[in-house]
Amino acid sequence: VASKLNSSGLLRTQGLIGGKWSDAYDGKTIKVYNPATGESIADVACMGGRETNDAISAAYTAYRSWSKTTAAERSKFLRKWYDLLMAHKEELAQLITLEQGKTLKESIGEINYGAGFIEFSAEEAKRVYGDIIPAPLSDRRLFVLKQPVGVVGAITPWNFPLAMITRKVGPALACGCTVVIKPSELTPLTALAAAELSIQAGIPAGVVNVVMGNAPEIGDSLLASPQVRKITFTGSTAVGKKLMAGSAETVKKVSLELGGNAPCIVFDDADLDVAVKGTLAAKFRNSGQTCVCANRIIVQDGIYEKFANALRDAVLNMKVGDGFSEDVAQGPLINEAAVQKVESLIHDATSKGAKVILGGKRHSLGFTFYEPTVISDVNIDMRISREEVFGPVAPLLRFKTEEDAIRIANDTNAGLGSYVFTNSIQRSWRVAEALEYGLVGVNEGVISTEVAPFGGFKQSGLGREGSKYGMDEYLEIKYVCMGNM
Ligand code: ADP
Repeated sequence: VASKLNSSGLLRTQGLIGGKWSDAYDGKTIKVYNPATGESIADVACMGGRETNDAISAAYTAYRSWSKTTAAERSKFLRKWYDLLMAHKEELAQLITLEQGKTLKESIGEINYGAGFIEFSAEEAKRVYGDIIPAPLSDRRLFVLKQPVGVVGAITPWNFPLAMITRKVGPALACGCTVVIKPSELTPLTALAAAELSIQAGIPAGVVNVVMGNAPEIGDSLLASPQVRKITFTGSTAVGKKLMAGSAETVKKVSLELGGNAPCIVFDDADLDVAVKGTLAAKFRNSGQTCVCANRIIVQDGIYEKFANALRDAVLNMKVGDGFSEDVAQGPLINEAAVQKVESLIHDATSKGAKVILGGKRHSLGFTFYEPTVISDVNIDMRISREEVFGPVAPLLRFKTEEDAIRIANDTNAGLGSYVFTNSIQRSWRVAEALEYGLVGVNEGVISTEVAPFGGFKQSGLGREGSKYGMDEYLEIKYVCMGNM
């Protein structure tokens, strides 16, 4: 696969600074691995503070002209980039499966979803309207202009190597900002391929820059620079808090998409098939490695046994294997640390009375493959209910009343994704309004789309991505008062 990708010109291993593919100053590299085989795929440039400062300078220079292009021009560039991403769907999807491990079908899904943010941004670029405000004095005229915020630092995780970048870079470019992207060191190849296509789309040098390597050093350079006016981040809550604190020094605008602890509430009055299918999708997508994956499946007494059995049967049918193999529903976890976290959460839960009803151990395929798992009799005090699992484990909790369900669901510092399964319209409204979450899926397990706002309440983050609201994150509001008219 890698050699085929090489001939397509999309297998890039250097950083992109001011339109030039560049090595690290000291020539250092880091290896990228295929989690399904443990094999190394590529050595990519391992950059740090100096290269990041170069990238910031390039982005700052490019900002002067890019921010002055018309919305229609930026829209055309973004549209071209979208077309190229879609034209190279197969290669990009292979790259994702290669470095991240998700199934090829899911990788194709990520290209459609991820490229969708570029397409949507191309359209939305033309709709950044200002306002005219009726003046309180007759000789004045009051206007509101929306202007790009400036150079943006975008730091992204490994679980969606393309989409977490495009949902930031699309609106940033559409608004007239330029970007320095720092993809995860575990999955830089997709980011670099997407950057290569941005060049092929004619997006001017310095508008899109990519550096990777020493994450804390790169992060510190982005934070320290007064030229970087915005940090947008998807990743762990711990790193997000550091970036927010570090942004204070230069008072940067901040958007954060952090960890979740999604409740998935199944009421007695739910349609069993819909609830099982929705839970399966919400839980096991990307082997459970998304920030909106169902983390606690909270099931009402009357349907608990039936639901547990039906979910176990459905999970039993999921084939585990290399994401490139046919019929595989679940690939490996990203790395050994991810498997160890799952093991320790299951150990904690079972030591406190939870029961493994399916899986509960490493898969015989070895490496970082883990058996799709269902555990019952979980309660709110177990670590698995308090921490993000980020793995293929469905923990079942039992509840009696609607009030109980809402209390359990909201009993967390996180507030990103949530799911409700019920056939009662009244209940679905009541519960959707009571959940302290940024996203609520009612009778649906996969709800994310570029046309809707994505973001968290509480410690799950700040700001929204996607939709018209996602544009605001990259805009400053300027009030202009014309007097003595
Ligand atoms: P995950 O658990 O998803 O890997 P992280 O928050 O560790 O979450 O990683 C998300 C992104 O943040 C990655 O690109 C990672 O390299 C980056 N990162 C990690 N530590 C820092 C840091 N101190 N400063 C800036 N970026 C960081």
